[in-house]
Amino acid sequence: MSLPDIDRLNLVTVKNKKSVTILGSTGSIGCNTLDLISRNRGDYDIKALTANRDVVKLAQQAKEFNADMAVIADMTLYGELKSALSGTTIIVAAGEKGLNEAADMPAEWVMSSIVGAAGLEPTLTAIRRGATIALANKECLVCAGDFMMEQVRKYDATLLPVDSEHNAIFQIFDFNHPENVEKITLTASGGPFWNMDSIDMASITPSQAVKHPNWSMGAKISVDSATLMNKGLELIEAYYLFPVKKDQLDIIIHPQSIIHSTVSYIDGSVIAQLGMPDMRTPISYALAWPNRMSTPSKKLNLLEIGTLDFIAPNREKFPALNITRDALLYGESAPTILNASNEVAVYAFLEGRIGFQDIVKLVEKTLDKINFNKMSCLSDVHEVDENARRVSNELIKGIKK
Ligand code: NAD
Ligand code: MG
Repeated sequence: MSLPDIDRLNLVTVKNKKSVTILGSTGSIGCNTLDLISRNRGDYDIKALTANRDVVKLAQQAKEFNADMAVIADMTLYGELKSALSGTTIIVAAGEKGLNEAADMPAEWVMSSIVGAAGLEPTLTAIRRGATIALANKECLVCAGDFMMEQVRKYDATLLPVDSEHNAIFQIFDFNHPENVEKITLTASGGPFWNMDSIDMASITPSQAVKHPNWSMGAKISVDSATLMNKGLELIEAYYLFPVKKDQLDIIIHPQSIIHSTVSYIDGSVIAQLGMPDMRTPISYALAWPNRMSTPSKKLNLLEIGTLDFIAPNREKFPALNITRDALLYGESAPTILNASNEVAVYAFLEGRIGFQDIVKLVEKTLDKINFNKMSCLSDVHEVDENARRVSNELIKGIKK
């Protein structure tokens, strides 16, 4: 028997590292992913990290995690990032081309956590390499679900849902016997305003809307949670991720965010996934999949929680629920229009140009104004998306705050 060869052992360790790219590394999901990686540093090799405008955070992450590449989406910030990373061997790039180059780096696992339809192209690039995609960006599936799923099948890529509800369903859905599933129920915290009087909702400010009671998230998804548009987008996301029919998807308000979703089976069994509201749990499930890893998330203590409440959503007060369901039922370009218009509306609200209740009204008006049509390729998706943004921006001009 001979002693183990240290060099060879090191080699094996490097080979066993999981190579990772994070699209949107400076955001809430991106930072939570890096937090998990930082606790198990030896297990991961960071290929590329990307951000929209936060040069300082991106450069700091790229150095700390020794990334091969760092990409800033805003072209005008290329020089700043380049100088922030001077003296390192980190490849620097910018713009849409740079994002696609990041997605094309040979990482086996790619976190798709850019917010909005801006994440679609780089996510598709990673899909076309046959990579494993941890999908946080739900807007991709809402705006281009048919096309994206077709590409996933064509290039044999793997999609792992990160959104807490979809990650829960992924953990409990019997993929071998989908015919035994009666329905999927997505739980919704209800956001900060689910039990507020409709009259008071007119005066909701951006700072109130981004304060989520249970989850700490980026600004756009926080506003989406407050209008319940987020749950509607998740309904569409679930339709694409799981083999169920549109009428097998349901939504229930569960203010404690402990049950992250349930799957009901034909025999009367209902299986739920529970945990504290901490995105590091679903992210870790995707990161370690098909294994599990330990996380610093607070462990659930049901005795401490005591009571779990469930309430039917108020669809009059939160019309986003009906609009998204209708868009899902109608299909064709309706979800693409809905998503684009919602993005425009949410940023207009955050910038103080429209009121809180104008968000969903604007989406509804935009859907009313545009005829739906079949989309057969990616350029169709872009065309519909751009047109919906143009129409929504026009409509905003007519809104008096
Ligand atoms: P965030 O705003 O905190 O971060 C977004 C990231 O995308 C940042 O790195 C930002 O620099 C980058 N980015 C923004 N616009 C960009 C653009 N135009 N081009 C390139 N990069 C851009 O958002 P988040 O809360 O981390 O959410 C990210 C995605 O994950 C969203 O689609 C959201 O719906 C989804 N998600 C988030 C959570 C959560 O808890 N935060 C939970 C479920 C799903
Ligand atoms: Mg969610």
